[in-house]
Amino acid sequence: AAKGGGRGQFRFYSNDLKESAEDRREIEEDLRDALQRSELEMHYQPAVDSKTHQVKSFEALMRWDHPTHGSISPGTFIPIAEDSNLIDALGEWALRQACEDAAKWPGEITVSVNVSAQQFVSDNLPTVVENALSNSGLPARQLELEITESVFMGDVTATDAMFRKLSKLGVKLALDDFGTGYSSLAYLRRAPFDKIKIDQSFVRGCTQEGNSSAAIITAIISLARAMKMSTTAEGVEAMDELEKIAALEADMVQGFIFSRAVPQADVLEKLSTGEMHYEPVGPAKHRADRR
Ligand code: C2E
Ligand code: MG
Ligand code: MG
Ligand code: MG
Repeated sequence: AAKGGGRGQFRFYSNDLKESAEDRREIEEDLRDALQRSELEMHYQPAVDSKTHQVKSFEALMRWDHPTHGSISPGTFIPIAEDSNLIDALGEWALRQACEDAAKWPGEITVSVNVSAQQFVSDNLPTVVENALSNSGLPARQLELEITESVFMGDVTATDAMFRKLSKLGVKLALDDFGTGYSSLAYLRRAPFDKIKIDQSFVRGCTQEGNSSAAIITAIISLARAMKMSTTAEGVEAMDELEKIAALEADMVQGFIFSRAVPQADVLEKLSTGEMHYEPVGPAKHRADRR
C-alpha cells in the first residue's frame, strides 16, 4: 500500500484493494463515515469546444481523502458504494454539491454529474435532482446527468419512465463511456440523450495508422449528428490526439491535455478572470512522450 504516496502511487493501492475482500470491507465501513467526516470532495474537469477550446461544461468527479490511505480513486470506491447501498447517499450528496458549486460559476456553464445505474432505478432520483436544483438555484438546463449503458440492463418500463421524468425536469442527459458496454444502437432510440461521450479507449488508438478506433469514432459522430446529439471525446492526453479528434469533428474534448479535475476554488479562480478558454498544457506531441 502506498500510504500518503505521491501522484499515481495510490493506483497501486487501489488495484490491491480490488483483490482483497477484507480491504473491500474496510473501505465499505470507512465509506459509511466519509460523508459525515467531510472526507469527500467534488472536483471538476473542463470539457472544451474541440476547435475554440472554450469551456462549455465541467464534469463533477468525486474525490475521497481517506484518513490513513490518502487519496482513493472513485474507480475503486464507487463500485463498492454500488454494492453496499451507499451509492444513493453518496449520489445525493454529489448532486447537491455539484449544483451548489455550479450555481456560483459565471455564465451558462453546465455541470455534468455521474449517476450510477443503481441510482437510476431508485424512485427517489427525480426528487433528489429537483431538490438539488431548487436548493442551489441552478437552472435545470445547466445540469447534465451522465449515465452508462448499464442502465439499460434494468427493467424496461421503469427505465423508460425514469428517462421521461428526468427529461420533464429539463435536465440534460449524456451517455457516458459509449462503446464499452453492451452497446446496442437500439438504446439510442429509447432515451432522449443530448450527448454521447466517446470512451477514452477509442481516443487512445485513434492516431495510430491501421487502428480501427478512428473509424469507430467517425461512425459514432455521424450517428450522433443524425440523431441530433452532440459528442464529447474523453481522455485526450496528447497534441496529436487533440488534432485528430478536432479533424474528426467531435464537438467537445475532455482530457488531461487541458486539465485534470480540480477543486471548486480553482474553477472559480479561473472563471473569475473572465477566462473561458483553455490551452493545451505541456503539450506532448504523442501520448508516449508523456510517460
Ligand atoms: P467517468 O465518468 O468516465 O469519468 C472520466 C474519468 O476519466 C475520470 O476518472 C477522469 O479523471 C478520467 N480522465 C479524464 N481525462 C483523462 C485523460 O486524459 N486520461 C486519463 N487516463 N483519464 C482521464 P476518475 O475521476 O478516476 O473517475 C472514474 C470513474 O468513477 C468515472 O468515470 C465514473 O464512472 C466514476 N465516478 C466518479 N465520480 C462519480 C460520482 O460522483 N458518482 C458516480 N456514480 N460515479 C462517479
Ligand atoms: Mg462521466
Ligand atoms: Mg466516461
Ligand atoms: Mg467510466
